[in-house]
Amino acid sequence: MDIKEKLTNIRNRIREAAETCGRDPQTVRLVAVSKTKPADSVLGAIEAGVTILGENYIQEARDKINALASHPVSWHFIGHLQTNKAKYAVKLFDLIHSVDSLKLARQLNDEGEKVNKIQNILIQVNVGKEETKSGVSSEEAVSLIEEISILPNLSIRGLMTMPPFFDDPDRARPYFKELADLWHYIRGRNIPNVVMEELSMGMTGDFKVAIECGSTLVRIGTAIFGSRN
Ligand SMILES: *Cc1c(COP(=O)(O)O)cnc(C)c1O
Repeated sequence: MDIKEKLTNIRNRIREAAETCGRDPQTVRLVAVSKTKPADSVLGAIEAGVTILGENYIQEARDKINALASHPVSWHFIGHLQTNKAKYAVKLFDLIHSVDSLKLARQLNDEGEKVNKIQNILIQVNVGKEETKSGVSSEEAVSLIEEISILPNLSIRGLMTMPPFFDDPDRARPYFKELADLWHYIRGRNIPNVVMEELSMGMTGDFKVAIECGSTLVRIGTAIFGSRN
């Protein structure tokens, strides 16, 4: 399959997953995860209709974003962000999925202020409480969000998670469910300056289950670009 066929296939699977559980397929958007893939491949995806790209590493992303600057696409940062790279992240990305500390949020806010930008962010939650994964715990998420919500150059748009890996994606369901429940709960609290509109969850192996649990942004790399080295 070429990239066009792969994308058609993924789009069909996203639509089917949404329709099967009674959701409007338009409410699930595809983030094509292009980490480690060259600008040529990303261009192929853009030409095949991709409008949102996800990157994990600042330096790599910067080169690609510059090379593809003439294309009207949206770039999302989905990797772990170090505080000292906040400046670049604010310059390059429309949405940062991986904010998990007040320290990082403050730095992003300062950088946003310098360039007069309100930076859209998601709060990354480590629902599986895995040592190896970034993210705030579900228990700490609400107080972190309350603290970040008063920073004027940030806008919280939702939550993101990466559940533990399972061969059987159905086993990720309780983790997706936990994030969705947290999302509804925070929504209900009506915290000023917090908009719970995005739920970023689901990758190549488990996006169907994530969509069934309410995902609005699926982050898919391998099924579009092939496996990574
Ligand atoms: C790499 C990555 C993805 C994409 O994973 P695939 O299994 O290749 O679809 C999604 N989300 C994050 C945070 C990633 O780092």
